[in-house]
Amino acid sequence: MCGIAGYIGKRQASEFLLDALKKLEYRGYDSSGMAVLSEENTLNCVRSIGRINALEEKLKGMKSNGSIGIAHTRWATHGYPSEANAHPHSDCSGNIFVVHNGIIENYKILKEDLIKNGHKFQSNTDTEVIAHLIEERFKGSLEQTLADVLKCIEGAYALAVISKNDPGKIVVAKKSSPLVICIGKNENFIASDSSAVAGYTDKVIYLDDGELGIVTKDDCKIVSIANNNKVHKECCSVDLDVSEIRKNGYEHFLLKEIFEIPEVVKNSTRGRMILDQGLVKLGGLEVLDQDKLRNINRIIIIACGTASLAGFVGEYMLEEYAGIPVEVELGSEFRYRKPIIDSKTAVIAISQSGETADTIASLLEAKRKGALTLGIVNTVGSTISRETEAGVYNHAGPELSVASTKAFVSQIIVLALFTIYLGRTRDMSLVMGKRIIEEIDKLPCLIEETLKNHEQIKSLAAKYSKYKNFLFLGRKYNYPIAREGALKLKEIAYHIHAEGYAGGEMKHGPIAMIDENFPSVFVVPNDSVYEKMWSNMEEIKARRGKIIAITTKGNKNIEDIADDVIYIPKTLEMLTPVLTTTPLHLFAAYMGMEFGFDIDKPRNLAKSVTVE
Ligand code: GLU
Repeated sequence: MCGIAGYIGKRQASEFLLDALKKLEYRGYDSSGMAVLSEENTLNCVRSIGRINALEEKLKGMKSNGSIGIAHTRWATHGYPSEANAHPHSDCSGNIFVVHNGIIENYKILKEDLIKNGHKFQSNTDTEVIAHLIEERFKGSLEQTLADVLKCIEGAYALAVISKNDPGKIVVAKKSSPLVICIGKNENFIASDSSAVAGYTDKVIYLDDGELGIVTKDDCKIVSIANNNKVHKECCSVDLDVSEIRKNGYEHFLLKEIFEIPEVVKNSTRGRMILDQGLVKLGGLEVLDQDKLRNINRIIIIACGTASLAGFVGEYMLEEYAGIPVEVELGSEFRYRKPIIDSKTAVIAISQSGETADTIASLLEAKRKGALTLGIVNTVGSTISRETEAGVYNHAGPELSVASTKAFVSQIIVLALFTIYLGRTRDMSLVMGKRIIEEIDKLPCLIEETLKNHEQIKSLAAKYSKYKNFLFLGRKYNYPIAREGALKLKEIAYHIHAEGYAGGEMKHGPIAMIDENFPSVFVVPNDSVYEKMWSNMEEIKARRGKIIAITTKGNKNIEDIADDVIYIPKTLEMLTPVLTTTPLHLFAAYMGMEFGFDIDKPRNLAKSVTVE
């Protein structure tokens, strides 16, 4: 999920690699490392936890001469951030070094087999299996061995491999994670994105899924992994404006992260759904005594801010489909209450960073009182992941923008998976399990479709930026989303005041504020409460209030009542929040841009709230 760099040519590889890693820093990482193959055919590897500067310091005291090398910034998915888990990883003999971005889903079973065959592992990563598999199957050609190994690997990867048993080349491959080969004069480069080679070359070959590249000093050959046939690739000239590329062409990380959501949903679900059995497999929960989980009779979700709103969506899902009573508690409140907890209570802490102080304090309180503690976090090795008995990682990748968007959606996705996981051990039928999985599977495409409304949403932001107050309304699954829409608008476009309310609560107070200068955003997909929301829209209209409605495609009659309508595709009611969220996130982002704010870092906010 983070960065890869590689070099082969005439320079000291370590100099380019350090420079490239620094250029890839923006992707977020927790540790880094590099391996260099010297002229004498020795391999030297240096790894370090923390910033690239720490790696640079370490390199000073070490032998790192050589003109072939690979390097990596890691954002842990399997195994805590530590020196031992940092890449590159090697085989038993230290002859092969691998850097990898992504997740090897079937690593556990592969690792078990390799251990049986006598392989000794040095890390807890999924990646290390690749080095050992190459060692096990090596028959003289690194590329042929890697092609062979990749046939038994499931998951996502961008990979670069060097070996002293087949020196003079770097072999690379990719599936669902980015990798480019950059062509120089008597030297070639490898990188996760071309910004890493800015200043060295502007000639780029984009590797595609299923392709393997054999990169030498003066050549680059691409073959198909499936049949070893040569693939002809165009070499493109790119204009390397580094700041642009870092944001992948987007003006802001916030926008980049919103547009990454389809990919994030794929990553959060990859390898976790077994369609024909209507089951969900969550590796992080397998460590638990499953009877303990089956016996829980109550769930308390603890979270703060945006994560608590994902928790509310989870509450509705879990109650409706897993039949378990759920309460959502704010970390800052729960910790000072006298919560009633017993061993049949499961507490789920949700936090992107896994370091949210109030959530941690509440979690520890619940643990002390005997609850089963679980976590849904995005950051591997974070405090919450260590303090809970078991948990599920989001696999949303690093989120750099302060306001959470892709992590929020992935929290909802993980809660949907957890609902099936738990529901299928209780009263959810096979048919229902399959049905939900089928719909989750379609979500990445449906989100893509929703994102296509971005121009329309941008013009709505321009149209509505003159208003100072907004009311966001939704019911049932979309009540928390109405609150999320209001929260995001407050966070990112902070000159605006916004309230998120349950549709039915409007009459109990907020309607007093409504007039022609106080627009409302209705989150009204075609669901079981659509008619009720329609009445609320009538009530707003009767007070001359403006309405922006987010609704399901085909609901044409809504144009009679709403001033502006954003359409989303159809999905299962419990999954509509995944689709209704995106327009609201975009609306907040474009509104912030209307005011000329730094939408990645709104004033007064911090990314991970590690203080009370
Ligand atoms: N899954 C690998 C690990 O945890 C790679 C993570 C990454 O993409 O940085 O080490």
